[in-house]
Amino acid sequence: MDFEAFPEKVWLSTPTMHGEELIYMKEAFETNWMSTIGVNINEVEKLLAAKLGCRYSVALSAGTASLHLAMKLAGEKLYGMPEIGKGALFGHRVFCSDMTFDATVNPVVYEGGIPVFIDTEYDTWNMDPVALEKAFEIYPEVRLIVVAHLYGTPSKIDEIKAIADKHGALIVEDAAESLGATYKGKQTGTFGDYNCISFNGNKIITGSSGGMFLTDCEEDAKKVRKWSTQSRENAPWYQHEELGYNYRMSNVIAGVVRGQIPYLEEHIAQKKAIYERYKEGFKGLPVTMNPYDKKNSEPNFWLSCMLIDPEFLCKQERGEQKALYIHEHGKSCPTEILETLAKYNAEGRPVWKPMHMQPIYRMNGFVTRDGNGRARTNAYIVGSVTDVGVDLFNRGLCLPSDNKMTPEQQDKVIEIIRGCFE
Ligand SMILES: *Cc1c(COP(=O)(O)O)cnc(C)c1O
Repeated sequence: MDFEAFPEKVWLSTPTMHGEELIYMKEAFETNWMSTIGVNINEVEKLLAAKLGCRYSVALSAGTASLHLAMKLAGEKLYGMPEIGKGALFGHRVFCSDMTFDATVNPVVYEGGIPVFIDTEYDTWNMDPVALEKAFEIYPEVRLIVVAHLYGTPSKIDEIKAIADKHGALIVEDAAESLGATYKGKQTGTFGDYNCISFNGNKIITGSSGGMFLTDCEEDAKKVRKWSTQSRENAPWYQHEELGYNYRMSNVIAGVVRGQIPYLEEHIAQKKAIYERYKEGFKGLPVTMNPYDKKNSEPNFWLSCMLIDPEFLCKQERGEQKALYIHEHGKSCPTEILETLAKYNAEGRPVWKPMHMQPIYRMNGFVTRDGNGRARTNAYIVGSVTDVGVDLFNRGLCLPSDNKMTPEQQDKVIEIIRGCFE
């Protein structure tokens, strides 16, 4: 390939600021509400609850903080108040999305729960309802499901909810990546019993950091608000009856989020255009884009991803830390494409390495649609159809999806990737 490298790096996904963010940040400064109280926080809570169609919202320091307090709420509801020092999910198994960021799952462990991973399906790259049903056969005692919407694509919400209802289980919805995405016309982040979103720097809109808890239950919202501010009781002194956390959003961060909210739709439109341009540009290559349910859902297209057809995957070996590949004519692999993109100063990323493959969770259960994934396959076979997560990890990658990428830059990315298959 006779390309020059990009003079300026083409990123996976970076913050896109518009100007209002600075006005609201400055307002916090000038009014001296440089604190975890202030107008920006109130506004952000109000605006997002209205936008999503949810009664209550609590602005927090991170999406992970929101997920943590969601686990705590779920645990207390299901199993009662724990002793101090024991998490509310202590010793209880929890079904979790497998192909996701580990922030979906770690909060289960903060509360003493034991994640059991549910394999992924090919239609949306999210939790497989068939595997979830299987998991209830193996672990009928489970009462909590944590489901993420990968890369902004809604999961099979109706199917998952029906299974949850059938087994009397609650749902924590991790909509950290999917803000603005809809399922049957309803926003993600409103389907769960407990709902979490994130304003981390690379998300569709950002506060540089931050997160939010959403619910229709006033009592739950009050609890989260109280826990997030060190669980102070209503007394003249600092009175504490419960374990507290310092999880509240800063009014400065809230200023950034407040300035970003009006641009959510614009960002989604830009991300969608990027997705469509890749789709068009890859015509004739043995690849597909990350799929979604066109009938029922509208993703936010946060990250565009591609999947290489199995017969067109060149030899690729991935250890715990390093990857190797052998180029073959007409074929390629995620490692080759990512290394080539990096050579030209563009940033891609492997798809999330499934949680059941992570050393930290190697002892946890993993259920595929065929049953217990651990007992059946200790070795992970490339292209194995019984372990969808491994298959997607081997063949998939995230493409540069920054909404400031120009069509010209994107065309060049497409040409670089085409070159990998020569
Ligand atoms: C980003 C992310 C989180 C965590 O959000 P933070 O605000 O970074 O704590 C949780 N789950 C998923 C799926 C994410 O992508």
